[in-house]
Amino acid sequence: MPDNQFKTETHTFSVMISEQEIRKAVQRLGKELSQKYAGKNPIFVGILNGSFLFVADLVREMSVECEIDFLKIGSYGNAMHSAGTVRLDKDVSAQLTDRHVIVVEDIIDSGLSVTFIRNHLMEKKPASMSFVTLLLKKEKAVVDFPIEHVGFDIGNEFVVGYGLDFAQRFRHLKDIYVTYD
Ligand code: 5GP
Ligand code: MG
Repeated sequence: MPDNQFKTETHTFSVMISEQEIRKAVQRLGKELSQKYAGKNPIFVGILNGSFLFVADLVREMSVECEIDFLKIGSYGNAMHSAGTVRLDKDVSAQLTDRHVIVVEDIIDSGLSVTFIRNHLMEKKPASMSFVTLLLKKEKAVVDFPIEHVGFDIGNEFVVGYGLDFAQRFRHLKDIYVTYD
């Protein structure tokens, strides 16, 4: 087994995006966001659990002052497929009214979660809202608003690592792995 692969009982995972490539993308996104939000004291809203590492790395690439909060959603479903329903598990604690909000997602797949989150946060009347996702399944995602900041466009494949799980496993991995099984 090459060292850019690992196996579970059922699946083989191979490195798709390396730690170095992730770091470069996060640096680029941090630069974009620092320019866009200069003087605006934006508040990042990370979507738990998957975005915890991405948020941590992204805010360290910010050269302007910002705040950080989290929101947690759950989707009923199995390890690899969401069931098509989203619920709010934990709301943000911060007051978002008249704030510049940056929603941080690990991955946008069908677009259902990010649409739910947008509808939910819009009710809080922020001054503005934009979206950053590390990974976007471009061919599959259906969203009727722009996702302005994207790390990588990927195909319709299942990935783990760098916060992303397979039945809660593998979030700790530094690279992003794909399986075709
Ligand atoms: P949605 O379909 O609502 O855009 O995405 C729902 C959630 O499914 C994502 O936030 C993520 O937790 C999970 N998900 C979607 N695609 C993948 C994937 O390829 N790998 C992993 N680990 N989770 C995914
Ligand atoms: Mg998940």
